[in-house]
Amino acid sequence: QCVSVCPVNALSGRNTQQPVLDALADPTKIVIAQTAPAVRTALGRDFGCEPGTLVTGKMVSALRQLGFDYVFDTDFAADLTIMEEGTELLQRLSKYLSGDEEVKIPMMTSCCPGWVSFVEQHFPELRDNLSTAKSPQQMFGAIAKSYFAEKLGVDRKDIIVVSIMPCLAKKYEACRPEFAEDGNPDVDISIYTRELARLIRYANINFNELPDSDFDHPLGESTGAGVIFGTTGGVIEAACRTAYELYTKKPLEKIEFKELRGLEGIRSGTINFDGVPVKIGIAHGLGNARKLVEEVKSGKSPYHVIEVMACPGGCIGGGGQPFHQGRIEVLRKRAAALYSEDESKPLRKSHENPYIQQLYKEYLGEPCGPKAHKLLHTHYFDRKEVINMFLETDKDK
Ligand code: SF4
Repeated sequence: QCVSVCPVNALSGRNTQQPVLDALADPTKIVIAQTAPAVRTALGRDFGCEPGTLVTGKMVSALRQLGFDYVFDTDFAADLTIMEEGTELLQRLSKYLSGDEEVKIPMMTSCCPGWVSFVEQHFPELRDNLSTAKSPQQMFGAIAKSYFAEKLGVDRKDIIVVSIMPCLAKKYEACRPEFAEDGNPDVDISIYTRELARLIRYANINFNELPDSDFDHPLGESTGAGVIFGTTGGVIEAACRTAYELYTKKPLEKIEFKELRGLEGIRSGTINFDGVPVKIGIAHGLGNARKLVEEVKSGKSPYHVIEVMACPGGCIGGGGQPFHQGRIEVLRKRAAALYSEDESKPLRKSHENPYIQQLYKEYLGEPCGPKAHKLLHTHYFDRKEVINMFLETDKDK
């Protein structure tokens, strides 16, 4: 059973490391770590580094010293998310452009569980606008417990997946019953960046003296597109890199879509897909998101696709990150660190990741095909009733 039972972490606040330590101490289990893109840009802060210092290699070494059998990268799953979400966007757009009035446009991104819950609770009538693609955390768990388990020749129950996320909402997401098979969750434990720092200190690891090491393969290889998922605008920029090339069948002349970057609460841009102007809206922070969603609800949204991240700055400013005390400069430095890691990568488009190509060839078939749909897509619920029930109960007290 998933141990991250409390969406606000109240239950695990006192001793967050114990479930992870128990898993690592169990000789019958293969324990896998996955680390979200934004964690590497903030973890160092808890060990005295300057804001925005990238500590990817030391983080991997620390996880190995803690005893994880495999250290993988959620960025791999971010590339996978782009394959699925980018394909879904193209499918919706082509229906829309051919006059289909049923198709839900704008498509809204679905990789942030804080945002997904917001839609389910406050705008459930728009839940079909959400992409059905699971978040990178959940895609990783599904692939680790199917494809990778088969590669190892073990049962999914022999594997424990531990996520290191910037996020409190990821704990709740990992426990959603639809992300499990026969009661065995795709992601067993989800901890956040500060909890990892606590674990590292608890194990007396001298973080700053650690050598750099690389992620394991095959689920540790990622492109620059997967890296920029950690900042606002990054998901849609990554999606455009892939969707543009899949749609136009031409290589991008300019990989970076700088018009989609920045920290303004609401931004917009238009990307020309070979004569088709794709209009993009971006919001971070739920107050800003609400403004874009109200436009969708009233039928006045000018966009074809909308990216929303619930936290200020996106995951770089997530609630589980070392505290930034609202200092925008810290968020800027964290974002800059991710963009510089993207620039340093030899591959910067998700569809060029050779391990993603191998995964489709060996196992999944086509993006958005039947097997990919079964493993990598989800559905959403109307939770307004539940919220109203709570509000009514509260009023009666
Ligand atoms: Fe979690 Fe915040 Fe990132 Fe959303 S934006 S996935 S709530 S850290």
